[in-house]
Amino acid sequence: MSHPCNASSPFDHPKADVILRSSDNVDFRVFKLFLSLASPFFETLFELPQPSEEKTENWEMKDGLAVVPISEDSRTLDALLRFCYPCTLTENPSLDHFKDVVNVLEAAKKYSLDEIENTICQALFNPKILEVDSLRCFAIARRARLRDQTLMAAKYSLREPLIPEWFDEIGLVTSADLLALLTYHQKCGSALKKLHLNYSWIKQHYQNRTSGSWLLGQTTTGHGCNCPKSTTVQLFGCYCVLWWQEFMVATFEALKDKPCADTIHKMIEKTVEEVRRRNCSTCCSNVAIAMPEFTTLFAKHVDELVSEVELPLRY
Ligand SMILES: [Zn+2]
Repeated sequence: MSHPCNASSPFDHPKADVILRSSDNVDFRVFKLFLSLASPFFETLFELPQPSEEKTENWEMKDGLAVVPISEDSRTLDALLRFCYPCTLTENPSLDHFKDVVNVLEAAKKYSLDEIENTICQALFNPKILEVDSLRCFAIARRARLRDQTLMAAKYSLREPLIPEWFDEIGLVTSADLLALLTYHQKCGSALKKLHLNYSWIKQHYQNRTSGSWLLGQTTTGHGCNCPKSTTVQLFGCYCVLWWQEFMVATFEALKDKPCADTIHKMIEKTVEEVRRRNCSTCCSNVAIAMPEFTTLFAKHVDELVSEVELPLRY
């Protein structure tokens, strides 16, 4: 084995009272107190008879300090120790790489660093990261056996197509877990069909022809516009405006692949643009007023149905 090298500041302190040696042979000079306060694992470890007190051949000594071998590599150990140390001495590490997060999370669990585990999770499982990297978060959360975070990431993964693109951490997920995720995704897609088959949720919300007039291509006083009307879909005893029917068909088609509120927002944005291009003053002013409310209503029902679907994973 090559000669151990020393870690950089603040893990090179001359007054440190123990040395942790990483698997890649880097010596971290640290203070037992900081680690004991952060982790019951270290507290117990440091309470064991130390080689200075009781000569044991199993413990290596260096500069008069016990050397404790650690199975994590220096990159992981460095991040872990930065979390343990007070913020006046070092800031928490920035975990920009998903692989680092996995290693540090696993180490935090192993050393019973509960508080640190929570901090790492909060950093990773925030909406900004979940919106773009839900599947990577799912893989990490599942591997770390973090139930709530796994469920949260699975929900965000509904923004991805049913058959997702390859992602870096796909190897961390077992095929059983991936199948569970795909099944969940598909079930969410199927659960939303009932909103298309039965528009009672729309009727209940608008109650009558006046408040739902925009769906019929009418003003609130009942004047119809010239936009083509549906020949099949009726609400409040009138045929709906055709662009709205087409919007619903296209949205439910998109929801099959991405069953989440985000899909609705995207489809509605597109539709509002299309309606503006139609040059119908009635529909134009109707959508400006009615679409935000309709978006909220639609998204609420989608969220409700999706939250009823269980992710078939065992813990
Ligand atoms: Zn119109």
